[in-house]
Amino acid sequence: MKAFTYERAQSPAQAAAAVARKPGAKFLAGGTNLLDLMKLQIETPTHLVDVQDLALDKIEETPEGGLRIGALVRNTALASDMRVRRDYGVLTKAIVAGASGQLRNKATTAGNLLQRTRCPYFYDTNQPCNKRQPGSGCGAIGGVSRQLGVIGVSDACIATYPGDMAVALRLLDAHVETVDPQGAVRSIPIGEFHRLWGDTPHLETSLKRGELITAVTLPRPIGGRHLYHKVRDRASYAFALVSVAAVIQPDGSGRVAFGGVAPRPWRIEAAEEAMPRGAQAVTAQVFAEARPTADNRFKLQLATRTLAGVMVEARS
Ligand SMILES: Cc1cc2nc3c(=O)[nH]c(=O)nc-3n(C[C@H](O)[C@H](O)[C@H](O)COP(=O)(O)OP(=O)(O)OC[C@H]3O[C@@H](n4cnc5c(N)ncnc54)[C@H](O)[C@@H]3O)c2cc1C
Ligand code: SF4
Repeated sequence: MKAFTYERAQSPAQAAAAVARKPGAKFLAGGTNLLDLMKLQIETPTHLVDVQDLALDKIEETPEGGLRIGALVRNTALASDMRVRRDYGVLTKAIVAGASGQLRNKATTAGNLLQRTRCPYFYDTNQPCNKRQPGSGCGAIGGVSRQLGVIGVSDACIATYPGDMAVALRLLDAHVETVDPQGAVRSIPIGEFHRLWGDTPHLETSLKRGELITAVTLPRPIGGRHLYHKVRDRASYAFALVSVAAVIQPDGSGRVAFGGVAPRPWRIEAAEEAMPRGAQAVTAQVFAEARPTADNRFKLQLATRTLAGVMVEARS
Protein backbone atom coordinates (compact mmCIF):
# COMPACT_ATOMS: atom_id res chain seq x y z
CA MET A 1 0.00 0.00 0.00
CA LYS A 2 1.27 3.51 -0.82
CA ALA A 3 1.57 6.05 2.02
CA PHE A 4 -1.35 8.45 2.46
CA THR A 5 -2.62 11.01 4.94
CA TYR A 6 -5.95 10.74 6.74
CA GLU A 7 -8.61 12.94 8.34
CA ARG A 8 -12.13 12.47 9.73
CA ALA A 9 -14.66 14.95 8.33
CA GLN A 10 -17.07 16.75 10.66
CA SER A 11 -19.62 17.97 8.07
CA PRO A 12 -20.57 17.12 4.47
CA ALA A 13 -19.39 20.53 3.23
CA GLN A 14 -16.04 20.13 5.01
CA ALA A 15 -15.62 16.63 3.53
CA ALA A 16 -16.34 17.84 0.00
CA ALA A 17 -13.97 20.80 0.37
CA ALA A 18 -11.21 18.57 1.81
CA VAL A 19 -11.32 16.18 -1.17
CA ALA A 20 -11.47 19.04 -3.68
CA ARG A 21 -8.50 20.80 -2.04
CA LYS A 22 -5.99 17.97 -2.23
CA PRO A 23 -5.16 16.33 -5.61
CA GLY A 24 -5.55 12.55 -5.34
CA ALA A 25 -7.77 12.71 -2.22
CA LYS A 26 -10.72 10.30 -1.83
CA PHE A 27 -13.64 9.77 0.51
CA LEU A 28 -13.55 6.70 2.74
CA ALA A 29 -16.81 5.08 3.89
CA GLY A 30 -16.96 1.38 4.87
CA GLY A 31 -13.66 0.80 3.06
CA THR A 32 -14.64 -2.67 1.81
CA ASN A 33 -13.85 -1.81 -1.81
CA LEU A 34 -11.43 1.11 -1.58
CA LEU A 35 -9.03 -0.49 0.92
CA ASP A 36 -8.85 -3.73 -1.09
CA LEU A 37 -7.92 -1.71 -4.18
CA MET A 38 -5.35 0.29 -2.21
CA LYS A 39 -3.67 -2.88 -0.97
CA LEU A 40 -3.28 -3.96 -4.60
CA GLN A 41 -2.09 -0.44 -5.57
CA ILE A 42 -4.87 -0.17 -8.11
CA GLU A 43 -6.12 2.86 -6.18
CA THR A 44 -3.37 5.09 -4.75
CA PRO A 45 -5.06 8.03 -3.01
CA THR A 46 -2.76 10.62 -1.46
CA HIS A 47 -5.25 11.52 1.28
CA LEU A 48 -8.35 9.85 2.74
CA VAL A 49 -11.29 11.86 4.06
CA ASP A 50 -13.21 9.51 6.33
CA VAL A 51 -16.93 10.37 6.20
CA GLN A 52 -18.14 7.80 8.73
CA ASP A 53 -18.79 10.38 11.51
CA LEU A 54 -21.23 12.37 9.36
CA ALA A 55 -24.90 12.23 10.36
CA LEU A 56 -25.96 10.54 7.12
CA ASP A 57 -27.14 7.24 8.57
CA LYS A 58 -30.93 7.70 8.73
CA ILE A 59 -33.77 6.40 6.57
CA GLU A 60 -36.55 9.01 6.57
CA GLU A 61 -39.94 9.32 4.91
CA THR A 62 -40.19 12.13 2.33
CA PRO A 63 -43.16 14.52 1.97
CA GLU A 64 -43.82 12.90 -1.46
CA GLY A 65 -44.44 9.50 0.16
CA GLY A 66 -41.05 7.97 -0.63
CA LEU A 67 -37.89 7.35 1.39
CA ARG A 68 -34.64 9.27 1.80
CA ILE A 69 -31.74 6.90 2.55
CA GLY A 70 -28.65 8.51 4.07
CA ALA A 71 -25.39 7.84 2.23
CA LEU A 72 -23.95 6.09 5.30
CA VAL A 73 -26.85 3.72 5.92
CA ARG A 74 -25.21 0.30 6.03
CA ASN A 75 -26.40 -2.30 3.51
CA THR A 76 -27.71 -4.54 6.32
CA ALA A 77 -29.75 -1.71 7.87
CA LEU A 78 -31.23 -0.77 4.50
CA ALA A 79 -32.16 -4.32 3.53
CA SER A 80 -33.81 -4.99 6.90
CA ASP A 81 -35.74 -1.70 7.26
CA MET A 82 -39.43 -2.65 7.57
CA ARG A 83 -40.56 0.13 5.16
CA VAL A 84 -38.07 -1.07 2.55
CA ARG A 85 -39.06 -4.70 3.01
CA ARG A 86 -42.77 -3.83 2.70
CA ASP A 87 -42.74 -1.28 -0.14
CA TYR A 88 -39.46 -1.79 -2.01
CA GLY A 89 -38.88 -5.53 -1.64
CA VAL A 90 -36.75 -5.71 -4.77
CA LEU A 91 -34.19 -3.51 -3.02
CA THR A 92 -33.97 -5.80 0.01
CA LYS A 93 -33.65 -8.85 -2.26
CA ALA A 94 -30.92 -7.28 -4.38
CA ILE A 95 -28.86 -6.21 -1.37
CA VAL A 96 -28.97 -9.58 0.37
CA ALA A 97 -27.98 -11.28 -2.92
CA GLY A 98 -24.64 -9.45 -2.68
CA ALA A 99 -21.39 -9.96 -0.75
CA SER A 100 -21.68 -11.53 2.74
CA GLY A 101 -23.33 -10.63 6.03
CA GLN A 102 -20.08 -9.22 7.42
CA LEU A 103 -19.46 -7.08 4.34
CA ARG A 104 -23.04 -5.80 4.28
CA ASN A 105 -22.72 -4.76 7.94
CA LYS A 106 -19.84 -2.48 6.97
CA ALA A 107 -20.71 -1.40 3.39
CA THR A 108 -22.60 1.87 2.93
CA THR A 109 -25.24 2.97 0.45
CA ALA A 110 -22.91 5.48 -1.27
CA GLY A 111 -19.90 3.14 -1.27
CA ASN A 112 -22.00 0.36 -2.76
CA LEU A 113 -23.11 2.61 -5.64
CA LEU A 114 -19.47 3.52 -6.32
CA GLN A 115 -17.93 0.05 -6.14
CA ARG A 116 -15.58 -0.54 -9.04
CA THR A 117 -15.61 -3.20 -11.73
CA ARG A 118 -14.52 -6.80 -11.10
CA CYS A 119 -12.88 -7.23 -14.52
CA PRO A 120 -9.95 -9.62 -13.81
CA TYR A 121 -7.60 -7.55 -16.00
CA PHE A 122 -8.39 -4.43 -13.97
CA TYR A 123 -7.17 -6.36 -10.92
CA ASP A 124 -4.00 -7.65 -12.60
CA THR A 125 -1.50 -4.80 -12.66
CA ASN A 126 0.68 -6.71 -15.16
CA GLN A 127 -2.07 -6.36 -17.77
CA PRO A 128 -3.01 -3.32 -19.86
CA CYS A 129 -6.21 -1.66 -18.69
CA ASN A 130 -7.63 1.64 -19.96
CA LYS A 131 -9.63 2.02 -16.78
CA ARG A 132 -6.69 1.60 -14.41
CA GLN A 133 -4.20 3.40 -16.68
CA PRO A 134 -5.85 5.48 -19.41
CA GLY A 135 -4.40 4.80 -22.86
CA SER A 136 -2.65 1.55 -21.92
CA GLY A 137 -5.08 -0.71 -23.85
CA CYS A 138 -7.53 -3.37 -22.77
CA GLY A 139 -6.40 -6.88 -21.86
CA ALA A 140 -9.95 -8.20 -21.82
CA ILE A 141 -10.69 -7.45 -25.49
CA GLY A 142 -9.41 -10.58 -27.18
CA GLY A 143 -8.74 -12.12 -23.76
CA VAL A 144 -10.95 -14.07 -21.38
CA SER A 145 -14.22 -12.17 -21.26
CA ARG A 146 -16.80 -14.62 -19.87
CA GLN A 147 -17.80 -12.32 -16.98
CA LEU A 148 -17.72 -9.08 -18.96
CA GLY A 149 -20.23 -6.84 -20.69
CA VAL A 150 -22.44 -7.55 -23.69
CA ILE A 151 -24.09 -4.15 -24.16
CA GLY A 152 -23.15 -0.50 -23.65
CA VAL A 153 -19.50 -1.52 -23.99
CA SER A 154 -16.90 0.33 -26.10
CA ASP A 155 -13.70 -0.32 -28.05
CA ALA A 156 -11.80 0.93 -24.98
CA CYS A 157 -13.49 -1.16 -22.27
CA ILE A 158 -15.95 -4.06 -22.01
CA ALA A 159 -16.18 -4.25 -18.21
CA THR A 160 -19.45 -4.38 -16.28
CA TYR A 161 -20.70 -2.46 -13.30
CA PRO A 162 -20.76 -5.35 -10.80
CA GLY A 163 -23.19 -4.30 -8.06
CA ASP A 164 -26.63 -5.63 -7.16
CA MET A 165 -28.20 -2.81 -5.12
CA ALA A 166 -27.97 -0.27 -7.95
CA VAL A 167 -29.93 -2.56 -10.30
CA ALA A 168 -32.91 -2.35 -7.92
CA LEU A 169 -32.41 1.40 -7.49
CA ARG A 170 -32.51 1.85 -11.29
CA LEU A 171 -35.76 -0.11 -11.41
CA LEU A 172 -37.25 2.07 -8.66
CA ASP A 173 -36.24 5.37 -10.35
CA ALA A 174 -34.08 6.45 -7.41
CA HIS A 175 -32.18 9.76 -7.34
CA VAL A 176 -28.70 10.35 -5.92
CA GLU A 177 -28.38 13.51 -3.79
CA THR A 178 -25.02 15.24 -3.57
CA VAL A 179 -23.27 18.29 -2.19
CA ASP A 180 -20.28 19.85 -3.96
CA PRO A 181 -17.28 21.71 -2.49
CA GLN A 182 -19.10 25.05 -2.95
CA GLY A 183 -22.08 23.74 -0.96
CA ALA A 184 -24.37 23.35 -4.00
CA VAL A 185 -26.72 20.37 -3.81
CA ARG A 186 -28.10 18.41 -6.74
CA SER A 187 -30.27 15.36 -7.35
CA ILE A 188 -29.08 13.00 -10.11
CA PRO A 189 -31.50 10.47 -11.66
CA ILE A 190 -29.93 7.04 -11.13
CA GLY A 191 -30.11 6.35 -14.88
CA GLU A 192 -27.68 9.24 -15.42
CA PHE A 193 -25.39 8.43 -12.49
CA HIS A 194 -23.20 5.65 -13.97
CA ARG A 195 -21.57 6.60 -17.29
CA LEU A 196 -21.08 4.42 -20.35
CA TRP A 197 -17.37 3.81 -20.81
CA GLY A 198 -16.86 5.31 -24.29
CA ASP A 199 -13.25 6.49 -24.77
CA THR A 200 -12.85 7.35 -21.07
CA PRO A 201 -13.51 4.21 -19.02
CA HIS A 202 -11.65 5.69 -16.04
CA LEU A 203 -14.56 8.17 -15.66
CA GLU A 204 -17.28 6.02 -14.14
CA THR A 205 -19.98 8.35 -12.82
CA SER A 206 -21.37 11.85 -13.33
CA LEU A 207 -19.91 13.00 -9.98
CA LYS A 208 -17.55 15.98 -10.13
CA ARG A 209 -14.33 16.27 -8.19
CA GLY A 210 -15.06 16.55 -4.46
CA GLU A 211 -18.80 15.97 -4.87
CA LEU A 212 -20.07 13.96 -1.88
CA ILE A 213 -23.12 11.68 -2.02
CA THR A 214 -25.39 12.59 0.90
CA ALA A 215 -28.45 10.39 0.21
CA VAL A 216 -30.42 8.27 -2.20
CA THR A 217 -34.13 9.02 -2.55
CA LEU A 218 -36.89 6.65 -3.60
CA PRO A 219 -40.19 7.87 -5.08
CA ARG A 220 -43.49 6.65 -3.62
CA PRO A 221 -44.04 2.87 -3.81
CA ILE A 222 -45.43 1.37 -7.02
CA GLY A 223 -46.94 -1.86 -5.64
CA GLY A 224 -46.64 -5.11 -7.62
CA ARG A 225 -44.57 -8.22 -6.99
CA HIS A 226 -40.90 -7.45 -6.30
CA LEU A 227 -38.31 -9.98 -7.48
CA TYR A 228 -34.53 -10.21 -7.88
CA HIS A 229 -32.90 -13.26 -9.49
CA LYS A 230 -29.10 -13.42 -9.63
CA VAL A 231 -27.24 -16.05 -11.66
CA ARG A 232 -23.59 -16.58 -10.72
CA ASP A 233 -20.84 -19.16 -10.79
CA ARG A 234 -21.15 -19.94 -7.05
CA ALA A 235 -24.33 -19.94 -4.99
CA SER A 236 -23.03 -17.18 -2.71
CA TYR A 237 -20.21 -14.68 -2.43
CA ALA A 238 -19.96 -14.14 -6.19
CA PHE A 239 -20.83 -11.35 -8.60
CA ALA A 240 -23.66 -11.67 -11.12
CA LEU A 241 -23.16 -13.18 -14.53
CA VAL A 242 -26.67 -11.88 -15.12
CA SER A 243 -29.20 -10.50 -12.66
CA VAL A 244 -32.80 -9.44 -13.17
CA ALA A 245 -34.68 -6.97 -10.98
CA ALA A 246 -38.39 -6.77 -11.69
CA VAL A 247 -41.63 -5.36 -10.35
CA ILE A 248 -44.56 -7.14 -11.95
CA GLN A 249 -48.21 -6.07 -11.61
CA PRO A 250 -51.14 -8.54 -11.53
CA ASP A 251 -51.96 -7.87 -15.23
CA GLY A 252 -48.40 -8.86 -16.30
CA SER A 253 -47.20 -5.30 -16.92
CA GLY A 254 -44.17 -4.07 -15.02
CA ARG A 255 -40.58 -2.93 -14.98
CA VAL A 256 -37.33 -4.81 -15.47
CA ALA A 257 -33.61 -3.97 -15.13
CA PHE A 258 -30.58 -6.19 -15.74
CA GLY A 259 -27.27 -6.43 -13.88
CA GLY A 260 -23.96 -8.05 -14.88
CA VAL A 261 -24.31 -7.15 -18.55
CA ALA A 262 -23.27 -3.51 -19.00
CA PRO A 263 -21.28 -0.57 -17.56
CA ARG A 264 -24.38 0.38 -15.58
CA PRO A 265 -27.63 -1.24 -14.46
CA TRP A 266 -29.33 -1.80 -17.80
CA ARG A 267 -32.94 -0.75 -18.25
CA ILE A 268 -34.74 0.15 -21.48
CA GLU A 269 -38.13 1.54 -20.41
CA ALA A 270 -39.65 1.26 -23.91
CA ALA A 271 -39.11 -2.52 -23.85
CA GLU A 272 -41.28 -2.87 -20.74
CA GLU A 273 -44.43 -2.49 -22.87
CA ALA A 274 -43.63 -6.01 -24.10
CA MET A 275 -43.74 -7.52 -20.58
CA PRO A 276 -47.22 -9.11 -21.01
CA ARG A 277 -45.92 -10.87 -24.17
CA GLY A 278 -43.15 -12.70 -22.31
CA ALA A 279 -39.42 -12.66 -21.67
CA GLN A 280 -38.22 -13.10 -25.26
CA ALA A 281 -40.28 -10.11 -26.44
CA VAL A 282 -38.63 -7.94 -23.78
CA THR A 283 -35.02 -9.05 -24.14
CA ALA A 284 -35.16 -8.83 -27.95
CA GLN A 285 -35.54 -5.07 -27.45
CA VAL A 286 -33.35 -4.66 -24.36
CA PHE A 287 -30.39 -6.37 -26.04
CA ALA A 288 -31.03 -5.25 -29.64
CA GLU A 289 -27.71 -3.34 -29.69
CA ALA A 290 -25.68 -6.07 -27.92
CA ARG A 291 -22.00 -6.57 -28.82
CA PRO A 292 -21.12 -9.83 -27.03
CA THR A 293 -17.79 -11.62 -27.35
CA ALA A 294 -17.57 -15.32 -28.22
CA ASP A 295 -16.92 -15.93 -24.48
CA ASN A 296 -19.96 -14.13 -23.14
CA ARG A 297 -22.59 -14.52 -25.86
CA PHE A 298 -24.29 -17.02 -23.52
CA LYS A 299 -25.37 -14.08 -21.35
CA LEU A 300 -28.02 -13.09 -23.90
CA GLN A 301 -29.85 -16.40 -23.59
CA LEU A 302 -29.23 -16.44 -19.84
CA ALA A 303 -30.87 -13.02 -19.51
CA THR A 304 -33.98 -14.23 -21.36
CA ARG A 305 -34.20 -17.41 -19.30
CA THR A 306 -33.66 -15.56 -16.03
CA LEU A 307 -36.41 -13.08 -16.87
CA ALA A 308 -38.68 -15.98 -17.87
CA GLY A 309 -38.06 -17.52 -14.43
CA VAL A 310 -38.89 -14.21 -12.75
CA MET A 311 -42.16 -14.01 -14.70
CA VAL A 312 -43.12 -17.55 -13.67
CA GLU A 313 -42.42 -16.73 -10.02
CA ALA A 314 -44.49 -13.54 -10.30
CA ARG A 315 -47.51 -15.60 -11.39
CA SER A 316 -47.11 -18.22 -8.65
C1 LIG B 1 -15.46 -10.38 -1.24
C2 LIG B 1 -16.46 -9.36 -1.70
C3 LIG B 1 -17.61 -9.78 -2.32
C4 LIG B 1 -18.55 -8.84 -2.75
N1 LIG B 1 -19.69 -9.27 -3.39
C5 LIG B 1 -20.59 -8.34 -3.84
C6 LIG B 1 -21.76 -8.74 -4.53
O1 LIG B 1 -22.01 -9.93 -4.75
N2 LIG B 1 -22.61 -7.77 -4.95
C7 LIG B 1 -22.38 -6.44 -4.71
O2 LIG B 1 -23.18 -5.60 -5.11
N3 LIG B 1 -21.27 -6.03 -4.08
C8 LIG B 1 -20.37 -6.95 -3.63
N4 LIG B 1 -19.23 -6.53 -3.02
C9 LIG B 1 -18.92 -5.11 -3.01
C10 LIG B 1 -19.44 -4.39 -1.78
O3 LIG B 1 -20.85 -4.25 -1.93
C11 LIG B 1 -18.75 -3.03 -1.76
O4 LIG B 1 -17.40 -3.26 -1.41
C12 LIG B 1 -19.38 -2.08 -0.77
O5 LIG B 1 -20.74 -1.87 -1.03
C13 LIG B 1 -18.64 -0.73 -0.82
O6 LIG B 1 -19.16 0.10 0.20
P1 LIG B 1 -18.16 0.82 1.22
O7 LIG B 1 -18.97 1.70 2.07
O8 LIG B 1 -17.30 -0.17 1.92
O9 LIG B 1 -17.31 1.69 0.18
P2 LIG B 1 -15.79 2.20 0.24
O10 LIG B 1 -14.89 1.08 -0.09
O11 LIG B 1 -15.53 2.98 1.48
O12 LIG B 1 -15.83 3.25 -0.97
C14 LIG B 1 -16.06 2.86 -2.30
C15 LIG B 1 -15.93 4.11 -3.17
O13 LIG B 1 -16.95 5.04 -2.88
C16 LIG B 1 -16.42 6.31 -2.57
N5 LIG B 1 -17.34 6.90 -1.58
C17 LIG B 1 -17.74 6.32 -0.43
N6 LIG B 1 -18.67 7.09 0.17
C18 LIG B 1 -18.86 8.16 -0.64
C19 LIG B 1 -19.74 9.30 -0.59
N7 LIG B 1 -20.60 9.50 0.43
N8 LIG B 1 -19.70 10.18 -1.61
C20 LIG B 1 -18.83 10.01 -2.65
N9 LIG B 1 -17.98 8.97 -2.73
C21 LIG B 1 -18.01 8.05 -1.75
C22 LIG B 1 -15.01 6.04 -2.07
O14 LIG B 1 -14.15 7.15 -2.26
C23 LIG B 1 -14.62 4.85 -2.95
O15 LIG B 1 -14.16 5.33 -4.20
C24 LIG B 1 -18.30 -7.45 -2.54
C25 LIG B 1 -17.14 -7.02 -1.88
C26 LIG B 1 -16.21 -7.98 -1.46
C27 LIG B 1 -14.97 -7.48 -0.78
S1 SF4 C 1 -12.46 -4.36 -19.91
FE1 SF4 C 1 -12.11 -2.33 -19.01
S2 SF4 C 1 -11.53 -2.80 -16.91
FE2 SF4 C 1 -11.21 -4.69 -18.10
S3 SF4 C 1 -9.08 -4.59 -18.89
FE3 SF4 C 1 -10.37 -3.68 -20.43
S4 SF4 C 1 -10.27 -1.50 -19.95
FE4 SF4 C 1 -9.64 -2.57 -18.11
